[in-house]
Amino acid sequence: MATAGQLARAAADLRAIFATGKTRSFEWRESQLKALQEMIACREKEILEALRSDLNKPEYEAYLHEIVAVSSSCNFALKNLRQWMTPEKVKTSMASFPSSATIVPEPLGVVLIISTWNYPFLLLLDPLIGAIAAGNAVVLKPSEVAPATSFVLSTLLREYMDTSAVKVIEGATPQVTALLELKWDKIFFTGSSKVGRVVMAAAAKHLTPVVLELGGKSPVVVDSDIDLEVTARRIISGKWGCNAGQTCISPDYILTTKACASQLVEALSSQLEKFFGEEPLRSNDLASIINSNHFERLAKLLDDDKIAGKVVYGGQLDGANLRIAPTVILDAPQDSLIMNEEIFGPLLPIVTVKLNDHLLYICDAPYIVTICSVDSKVNKLEDCISLINAREKPLAAYLFTNNERFKEEFVRGVAAGGMAINETALQFAEHALPFGGVGESGMGSYHGKYSFDAFSHKKPVLQRGFKGDSAARYPPYTPEKLKFLKALMSRNMFRILRAMLGL
Ligand code: NAD
Repeated sequence: MATAGQLARAAADLRAIFATGKTRSFEWRESQLKALQEMIACREKEILEALRSDLNKPEYEAYLHEIVAVSSSCNFALKNLRQWMTPEKVKTSMASFPSSATIVPEPLGVVLIISTWNYPFLLLLDPLIGAIAAGNAVVLKPSEVAPATSFVLSTLLREYMDTSAVKVIEGATPQVTALLELKWDKIFFTGSSKVGRVVMAAAAKHLTPVVLELGGKSPVVVDSDIDLEVTARRIISGKWGCNAGQTCISPDYILTTKACASQLVEALSSQLEKFFGEEPLRSNDLASIINSNHFERLAKLLDDDKIAGKVVYGGQLDGANLRIAPTVILDAPQDSLIMNEEIFGPLLPIVTVKLNDHLLYICDAPYIVTICSVDSKVNKLEDCISLINAREKPLAAYLFTNNERFKEEFVRGVAAGGMAINETALQFAEHALPFGGVGESGMGSYHGKYSFDAFSHKKPVLQRGFKGDSAARYPPYTPEKLKFLKALMSRNMFRILRAMLGL
């Protein structure tokens, strides 16, 4: 593993390369994105093998969520690169009249990307695409918790990319600590809120801006009178079909009415059995838990007395093979362990709610959660908004409903990094949408053009000629000049002047 001295030298080398202007040209950016495409196309097998070894991800999932996702981001960046790099012309006002102005996207310099293990390929390379497209030199730190993918990535990136400007540093906390001592022009971090705080504190010493892609408890609100079979399938897809729930935007808990909960459990159970069979621990279509630490953490959540007797589906564990069956817990109390930390695994609690006059109760909880408006009688589930907002802002929030008013209220009322209505997790795949958290779930965003923006400075450039240099702006500030200024402001002379000059 690299020492602090070696890391400092690597960062200095990158700074020297960036200073030469090498990474700024369209040609360099394009060549690096194409090299990444070539790497993926030619070495797909090795990448998939590493993902299988680290996470036992089903090949379908690994291919779709890692290979296809990165290729698609890369293609999108290549298709739009020229346009993203083009300075944007903007209209000017009286303040600078006569003038022209542009916003010039400028690379930030040398950036650090620190990533996590759950999508170890995607979550390292997706930000890299933005960093390269924006013309930066980059240090990448893959997660040591997915060692096979970390090794393959460092080997392949060294082989395919321009190593004078893109460097991979493998390692764990000591290496990250040493990297965080150095000055960067941006730090892009994906991981836990706990380490996010460490990253932000270190960045503050150098006034380095950060993007923090963190996690949280993403709720799913399920309304009554909807197609529960489709709802169940889409919840399963975003939960157990995404790395066995080890996904930052996986449904973390469900909020629904007592009446709807039993039907939902039935729908989930029947679909889960269809997808993963009667012995889900043996299913080839369900990823394993990443390691024994996470397995023990999840087993502890399940072992909590507060949810004893509440497992309505699944609950089987296989410690030797690090496997946990899809598990549904009905009526998880608010003070249970599972409702008080991000689950990040294949357990899904359902919280049921009911309305009692104007007070919203969580079923089976001895205390009042929040006071609702009188309006809440119209639709009980609207009160879930207050329940969600009483927690830290999640990375994602989901709603299944046919009720248009409820959709509007949910979008307007719930504070979350992102949302999907009648879907889960699919918002991540859309290039047109920014992806990122808010509050405890993070700051900043990326994907598509937002990735380019995340690694660019928008430099405003104002230009004027030497004509039209009015004496009115310069001292001495005579009463006549003040009078002229006031007349200009009151009669909207600027518009008249522009019209006269045909501007
Ligand atoms: P983590 O914070 O433990 O690790 C992330 C990175 O930080 C790793 O590269 C690791 O080497 C480094 N690190 C760990 N401890 C450190 C320390 N003490 N000092 C300095 N660096 C340290 O997170 P994790 O377990 O890898 O990931 C799980 C979390 O990431 C979950 O909360 C999940 O929701 C979140 N996540 C978010 C996104 C997103 O896009 N928003 C995506 C995936 C995961």
